[in-house]
Amino acid sequence: MKAWIALGSNLNNPRQQIKDACNEIAMLEKVQFISGSKIYLSSPIGPQDQDDFINGCIVVETQLEPIDLLNALQKIEQTHHRTRERHWGPRTLDLDIIMIDNLVINSPRLTVPHPLCKERLFVLLPLLDIEKNNNVELILFNKKLPYWINLIHDQILHTSDNEYLTALTF
Ligand code: AMP
Repeated sequence: MKAWIALGSNLNNPRQQIKDACNEIAMLEKVQFISGSKIYLSSPIGPQDQDDFINGCIVVETQLEPIDLLNALQKIEQTHHRTRERHWGPRTLDLDIIMIDNLVINSPRLTVPHPLCKERLFVLLPLLDIEKNNNVELILFNKKLPYWINLIHDQILHTSDNEYLTALTF
């Protein structure tokens, strides 16, 4: 199965947090890194008295069950000493499963596709990068990505360079 994963951080050298997380995901058992988006900078949603976020998305091939993928990603979040003092507050690493093939999952711990992803430019634009990299059109909640992107008017996203998320291969 293919899984699209969104990464975000705004604490403790966020760019490095995201790059390290990519390598750690790529090194998981039964997970193979396919490709990554550009690296983006976004203003926080919710409390504004915190640093900007670094965001990006990757797509991996995995033989893990969805819940085991979530478990593995949550372990990685924990090793980054993720702190969650308040809702939508600063975080060292946030990993969200955006899509897994065309699966629809509504279990207590896992909702796929991720319900908020279509409202967030910092997820949609990275997904568009991945779409372009792989030449495969993504369908999210029955619509192509530009449909959702065109509905968003209030979010600004910066990308400072043409650096793509990638993973070290050993
Ligand atoms: P967050 O604060 O966004 O990191 O939310 C973490 C919680 O969301 C965890 O308790 C997960 O079990 C739950 N969750 C539900 N769906 C997803 C998903 N698609 N990806 C990641 N976490 C999810």
